[in-house]
Amino acid sequence: MKSLLFATASISVIGLVLTGTSVSAETTPKQKFICNTGYSVTDCIRQISALREALKPYHPERLGEWTWVLVKSADWKIVLLSRGLNPDSPAFTVLQKRQTFLEEALFVRVPNRSAELLRFWSVPLDKLLDFALTHELGHAVCNIQDEHIADNFGSQLREGRNPECLAGHNESAKSH
Ligand SMILES: [Zn+2]
Repeated sequence: MKSLLFATASISVIGLVLTGTSVSAETTPKQKFICNTGYSVTDCIRQISALREALKPYHPERLGEWTWVLVKSADWKIVLLSRGLNPDSPAFTVLQKRQTFLEEALFVRVPNRSAELLRFWSVPLDKLLDFALTHELGHAVCNIQDEHIADNFGSQLREGRNPECLAGHNESAKSH
């Protein structure tokens, strides 16, 4: 879940684009949801719907224009390695482009990969999406690469608080 401030887009995002359809769409900036290549329409719609539900309590509209991209687990590691990112991470944010990328395994069980994520993060799989989203929202809302600030922001969000963009004291050493 490391963020890249100056990353250049190397993923070809094509195909299924579902734009935000919230009730107040005309007054809130647009959130865009995209499935990368390899997704079936059914899986794309299902996972985007799960993503929107998971984001709702955290008011993603505060980000303004933002794009959320789902990537199949089969393609995930290649994407991360090509950007020099840690492939154990199931999410990352490109601040400059206002994009957050999320791995399929955050939404469905993926053979081998789900077990791998569980081992690395020690977060139950049904909590991993929430964990990843709150952390990435830390990068996005604070507009910062700093992992400690994103971690601290994310954990406060998960506790139902209204966080500030400040670094905590006892942060994990894992970069994500
Ligand atoms: Zn991070």
